[in-house]
Formats: sequence, structure tokens, C-alpha cells
Amino acid sequence: MSGIRVRFAPSPTGYLHVGGARTALFNWLMARKHGGVFILRIEDTDVERSTSESVDAILQGMEWLGLDWDEGPFYQSANFPLYKDYVQKLVDLDKAYRCYCTADELEARRELAMREGRKPKYDGRCRTLTEQPGDRPFVVRFRAPQDGSTSFDDQIKGTITFPNEELDDLIIQRSDGTPTYNFCVVIDDAVMRITHVIRGDDHVNNTPRQILLYQALGFPVPLFAHVPMILGADKARLSKRHGATSVIAYRDMGLLPEALVNYLVRLGWSHGDQEIFSREEMIASFDIAQVGRSASVFNPDKLLWLNAHYIKTGDPQRLAGLLAPFLAERGADPSAGGPQLAAVVKTLQERARTLIEMAEGALFYYLAPEAYDETAMAKFEKGHLLAVYATVAERLATTSARTAAEFDALLKDLCAEKGWKMPQLGQPLRIALSGGTQAPGIGEIIETLGSAETVRRVHRALEHASTC
Ligand code: GLU
Repeated sequence: MSGIRVRFAPSPTGYLHVGGARTALFNWLMARKHGGVFILRIEDTDVERSTSESVDAILQGMEWLGLDWDEGPFYQSANFPLYKDYVQKLVDLDKAYRCYCTADELEARRELAMREGRKPKYDGRCRTLTEQPGDRPFVVRFRAPQDGSTSFDDQIKGTITFPNEELDDLIIQRSDGTPTYNFCVVIDDAVMRITHVIRGDDHVNNTPRQILLYQALGFPVPLFAHVPMILGADKARLSKRHGATSVIAYRDMGLLPEALVNYLVRLGWSHGDQEIFSREEMIASFDIAQVGRSASVFNPDKLLWLNAHYIKTGDPQRLAGLLAPFLAERGADPSAGGPQLAAVVKTLQERARTLIEMAEGALFYYLAPEAYDETAMAKFEKGHLLAVYATVAERLATTSARTAAEFDALLKDLCAEKGWKMPQLGQPLRIALSGGTQAPGIGEIIETLGSAETVRRVHRALEHASTC
């Protein structure tokens, strides 16, 4: 299947939605798998609703997900002269005609049809006009076949057939001279030599009209694959009601792009029972024909599970780069001193499910506790706390231990010597170093903070405990 050309064609009327991102991903995978070309086309012909902020948000979302395009972004708004030429071409071929019916007339006829129990449809009144009525405003309509049917072999849904009598004579140019959506899509897909149109199944009904246009203009008809919708847990179409739907909102919630990509690829597509896919595996295994026919339900818990997996297995240096802005938002600046961020990341990879959880867990490394979890502290007698802090401060000041394992061994020996159980030492120490009891292994913390800073914090906790 060489020569594959696919496109993602968002309308810039909002942010990049997870559903759109999945469509983009399926197109991207199709191109990457077959050595084809992935095109980004911004469908901004609806001038009223399209905004440059939306364009930026879409590009940003695509870049964050790593869905790089080979051609584009192309903007439909730059193609108006091209569409005009093709409208004229259809008129010249007598495959399109001027229609002078006014909106009011059409509405009256529609109401009549409804009253008489007929399906409302353009009645073809201007199809055969022999005289053009001077300077009255007109739209241009496509002269669609009246009988027969139009079929296509959808790569996901199987064969779909529409009787042509159900398809109106589509307006291809409005009375203000602008081309309509279905017409622009066909011209662009044809001129861009798109071989596979992969898009949301809300476009199934547009497809027969588009196919008739391809045929009328003598263009080869591409293959179509209509991807089922994404639903919320209540089986309604995924919307803000169900939580975040914007790709960038997931970034801001501390998700990794590889987790979202992995989640989206499995939404409606499977490969045996494999859940975790590297990019390479995805490209090798993906097949558009294996996408399921029914809608998929968005499951935020599974997304979180995948994110935890990618945090656990991620490269600490890279994660540190992604984590830094989340720390900055919380008032910590690792570049101004304190442990290396990558070392901090290593101590938190096992437990953090998002970069936000990781940032919250990392904060104490850079900001010494200003207050302690008093409830946790109150579980120990004052005398015990003073003994623990004094002994640990003294031992750490003189030890040659440097690694987490060495610090853990030192603390274990101390417990044996003093007759303490490990939590009797570990918990007070965690409180001293992090303010609370939720923190990584104690040896790891000491190694990462360094013994000098550890001793400083233990002294501070000792002072605090002695004044309580
Ligand atoms: N611009 C359309 C949309 O955002 C997509 C059209 C297509 O893929 O053919 O839904």
C-alpha cells in the first residue's frame, strides 16, 4: 500500500478534543505504517466560528501528542479561488445549475411537504430553467442523479448504500458566492490526492453526496473509514459533562503524551489483549480495518493507570523536564539549589500517577517543611521524638554512608541498638524531613536530600518537638 495520503481536517472552532485527537492518531498511524504522507488541513471556511486561538490550540495539541504532519497546515480559507473554479467547471459541464428559489419559498415548500406527509426535499424547480432571471440572487446546486443508489465500502463499517432519491441537489455555492462545506472537502481531498478519508462517523451521511461530486468531476474516489464516536460512562456522547475533553487539559492535569496516545489507540481498536504499546509497536500493529464498529466508552481510570505505568517506566531526566513547570507553579525552583530534579523524580516514580502528584510529592525536597503533621507527631511521646531526632542527627553528622541502602542499614542498626521498631524511627524522621508521613523510602530521601540538609531538618524538628 504505497502512495498512501491521509489527512486530519479539524474545524478551528474550539480546542483539540480527545475524539479529534484519536482521529488524527489513526490517520497518523496509517501514514507511518505504510510510509505514506500525513497532511494537516484546517477547515476554516466557517469564518464566523473559526478563530486563530483554536488553530493554535489544535497545533499545540498535535505537537504535544507527537503527531507530526508531513504537509500543511493548509487553510481552506486560502483556497476560495480554487473552489470557485470548480463550481464553474460543474456549471460548464451542466452538472450544476443556478437556483433562484428564496429561503422563504423553500421554507413554505418544506412545510407543505411535511403537512402532506412527504419527505422534505428540494423539488428541482430550477433544474430545467431555460431563462435565467436577470440579476436575482442565486445559489449554485449540484445536479445529483435522481435514481439508482450510491454505495461505498467503509473500511470500518462495511458497505453503506444510500438511494440517490434521498440525496438533495446539494448547494455547492451560497448566494454570497462562498462555497459550502461538502464541496470544499471534496475539492481539497481530490487536489491533495487523499487516498483514505479517516474521520468521525458523524460524517457518514455526507459521504454519498461527496462521492457523487467526485464522480461528476472525474476524480478518483478515495476509500472511507468512519470511526465510531467516543461516549461517556452514561453512553452519551463524550462532552464536558464527563470531565476534561481537551487534549491540553490532560497535559495540564499532569498526563504524559505517550499515556494519552496509548489510551486513545486502544479506544475502539485492539491487538490481542495487549494494553501497553510503544510508538513503534503501535505503528507495526495498527490496522484501520480492525477498528470496532461500535462506539467506545471513555474510561478515565484506565487512562490514569496507563499514565502511572509511563511515569514508572519513564526516563527520569525527561520526566524532570516535564515536571519542572508543575513545580514552578507550586513555588519551587530546582535550578536555584537543592537536589537534582532527576534524582528526586527517581524517588517518586513508583507512587505518582500524574505529574501533579509527582510535583506535590517533590515539593518538600526544595521547600523545607514550615509546619509538621501534628496528628502524626502526637502518636509518639515527646521523649521518644527527642531521642530519635538527637540520635539520628548525631549519627548522620559523622557517618560515611552515601547511598540509600547505606542509610537504611545505618537506621536499621540504630533501631537494633535502641530497641525501636523501624516505624518508630521511620515515621518521626519522615515527618521531620517532609512535614508529613507520605513520602518515599527514608534511605532514598536522605540520599537525595544529602546528609547535611537532612541533619539541618532533623535539628529543626528537634527544636520543634522540644518546645511542644
Ligand atoms: N472539518 C470536519 C470536522 O471537523 C472534518 C471533515 C472531514 O474529515 O472530512 O468534523
